[in-house]
Amino acid sequence: AKGAAMVTAVAYRLTEQARQIQQTLAEFRLSKTQLLEVKKRMRVEIERGLKKDSHKEATVKMLPTFVRSTPDGTENGDFLALDLGGTNFRVLLVKIRSGKRRSVEMHNKIYAIPIEVMQGTGEELFDHIVHCISDFLDYMGMKSARLPLGFTFSFPCLQTSLDAGILVTWTKGFKATDCEGEDVVELLREAIKRKEEFELDVVAIVNDTVGTMMTCAYEEPTCEVGLIAGTGSNACYMEEMKNIEIVEGNEGRMCVNMEWGAFGDNGCLDDIRTKYDQAVDENSLNEGKQRYEKMCSGMYLGEIVRQILIDLTKRGFLFRGQISETLKTRGIFETKFLSQIESDRLALLQVRSILQQLGLDSTCDDSIIVKEVCGTVSRRAAQICGAGMAAVVDKIRENRGLDHLDITVGVDGTLYKLHPHFCRIFQQTVKELAPKCDVNFLLSEDGSGKGAALITAVGCRQRELDAQ
Ligand code: BGC
Ligand code: MG
Repeated sequence: AKGAAMVTAVAYRLTEQARQIQQTLAEFRLSKTQLLEVKKRMRVEIERGLKKDSHKEATVKMLPTFVRSTPDGTENGDFLALDLGGTNFRVLLVKIRSGKRRSVEMHNKIYAIPIEVMQGTGEELFDHIVHCISDFLDYMGMKSARLPLGFTFSFPCLQTSLDAGILVTWTKGFKATDCEGEDVVELLREAIKRKEEFELDVVAIVNDTVGTMMTCAYEEPTCEVGLIAGTGSNACYMEEMKNIEIVEGNEGRMCVNMEWGAFGDNGCLDDIRTKYDQAVDENSLNEGKQRYEKMCSGMYLGEIVRQILIDLTKRGFLFRGQISETLKTRGIFETKFLSQIESDRLALLQVRSILQQLGLDSTCDDSIIVKEVCGTVSRRAAQICGAGMAAVVDKIRENRGLDHLDITVGVDGTLYKLHPHFCRIFQQTVKELAPKCDVNFLLSEDGSGKGAALITAVGCRQRELDAQ
């Protein structure tokens, strides 16, 4: 009888533990009503960003890009492109040929940006960039060419023309001094001058979302939206000029870089943010900023998971109640690990071996819980990202006075491309929350580089026209 009582007590503890874990995760499980509410709030913030009176305080900045149309196939020439702000820093040479046998040929090299440079002085950062360009030009044997350059700079920039952009704020892992409030095109030009080795013609500054949209639009003209679900999160789309009140002119359209990562910075998502989201924010380089991005992008998902695991461990539900040094380490759960843990093809034993690689000793039960935590966090990410996209496509549909919209979204980003479930849940959510839109998703191949070159090509042509 005593044995039976003990078994009952253990069973009770286990079910009580399971109940508490489920209660913790329940906060991350959003209902359709909640997701519709996220969509509605995104729409409100979109309007605030577009309107002259509210633009200054708006959190979703809706920044003009001075890209007025998608490519038409007549783009031509050799261009240099830089891609800064994603998982890798790259320098590229892009050769675009127009005419019957349209083609794009690319050569690129990846360079590391050490963390001391990302978070050092602006001058060091731009000197490092120019050093990498110099190496690339040597490698390609093109130092004397004075090529036109498109700079994909994946941070919020207040543009006043195609080739001028003031950095509003650093995001993700960057924090170099003396750059915020400065025109980054000028910072690049100055660093090129300092080097005194080669000349370049900086023609365009490009957000990665815009490069992605342009790359996909080159193949598929119905592509008028760009999405990045990677290290960071953001979207752009072709908005009516008349709605972009901070830019003069009412004719035609212009691509708007939404900077939706900052959605929620005014507190409008506080009711769905959990204490774990708050902990991630407090531990970040930019506290209080990019709150939506911190709920749905690759740089932060692993951090949310880590915060939950720490809490569950403290409560004695995981890792025998022992918080290891590893678990205290920021950034351990990179997107590639989350993707592996959540892969359905992995047996639990393999999940345990991944955790082991990270330095986490787990039991079989632990690994089940960890996998569920990861799945819950990434599902919410895909859903709220989908809610944002639903707001965008519905806005475009309304702009055009349509009952039904067919549209293509160009997509890039490690989370979207590597994660086993993100893309599917994201697409499902868009479908459910924007039933009047038929949205086709197109993966971009090398969007940042190719897109920057296409925009540079258009910029060069426009300059020639203006000169006539
Ligand atoms: C930046 C955006 C960028 C996005 C994706 C965000 O942190 O603010 O400009 O498009 O990351 O890279
Ligand atoms: Mg990128």
